[in-house]
Amino acid sequence: MIDLRSDTVSRPSAGMLEAMGRAPVGDDVYGEDPTVIELETEVAGLLGHESALFTVTGSLANILGVRALAPIGTEVLCEARAHIARAELGAHAAVSGITTRTWSDPAGLIDLDQIRALIAPDLGPYFVTTAAVSVENTHNFGGGTIQPKHQYDALADELDAAGLPLHLDGARLWNAHVATGVPLADYTRRAKAASVCLSKGLGAPVGSVLVGSAELIREARVWRKRLGAGWRQAGVLAAAGLYAVRHNVARLAEDHAKARAIAEVLADAVPGGVKPDAVETNIVVVDLPAEGKTVPQVVAEAKAEGVLIGGVGARTLRFVTHLDVSLSDSRYAAEVVARIVATAG
Ligand SMILES: *Cc1c(COP(=O)(O)O)cnc(C)c1O
Repeated sequence: MIDLRSDTVSRPSAGMLEAMGRAPVGDDVYGEDPTVIELETEVAGLLGHESALFTVTGSLANILGVRALAPIGTEVLCEARAHIARAELGAHAAVSGITTRTWSDPAGLIDLDQIRALIAPDLGPYFVTTAAVSVENTHNFGGGTIQPKHQYDALADELDAAGLPLHLDGARLWNAHVATGVPLADYTRRAKAASVCLSKGLGAPVGSVLVGSAELIREARVWRKRLGAGWRQAGVLAAAGLYAVRHNVARLAEDHAKARAIAEVLADAVPGGVKPDAVETNIVVVDLPAEGKTVPQVVAEAKAEGVLIGGVGARTLRFVTHLDVSLSDSRYAAEVVARIVATAG
């Protein structure tokens, strides 16, 4: 099977498993796991923040980061297809008592005019108070798109002036960094809380890291335990994360080339459905024509031919490249899907 459903499907490499096997460990609930401490220290430094917390998922890192910025009964502004709004199963409402209002952009990008119009810092006792703004970089369902640095900085400047904190969902910030050369910390330093995933393109089996001030992270650590996600000898997992951060960042450029190759194959088969030039990182979203096979049909036919892809909308397919799929397999998978889409059902 060529699995392009997500960059979460990769398996730990031999080198990573070896690093996991020899990691010194301790009880992380007591704060005594040296490998967890090493990971948290290294990622905090890399992202230009005082402190960091290793979490089991990116969803948990976002839940802890957002709740640190937005008290119960307040709202967070985000793009309509943001992971925090669509793919964390209502956690911010169900767990933290926070609502969201959204702006919309086809590529998931920052739209300062829309955001400005949404911000409601204190409109009196009849309106929800805006407590924070959350930005996703790269934007997953927007097609792995990169938030342009000048727009991101303009938003951060406005929020600073308004006294509103910025939350950064940087699950794939590594990809934005590799694609643009912008240092990771140039994005993360502008956010009061930021999360990055180790288990996406970086290839670790588990884990994300939340960064922020020492005080924010102290509180997040308490809430992580409160939500049942304290862990003990987590150093075996932190070792995979350290290995990922040290070995698997620069190679993301290869994943970007694979995604571009997929888009180039599909651009001919699905005219207007995908623009290769718009593929900036490792995600390709393809809009199917209104007439023709449905997403479930295309997904099922591709699976029957050994190609796994995802559906992320009524007429939208998603391909995600990663370290366990080669350039030639990526191209082959796109050819299979192109043929399926072009053939009458
Ligand atoms: C994957 C992802 C997350 C976290 O997902 P988990 O499956 O909970 O680790 C958060 N934000 C974005 C944009 C993601 O793509």
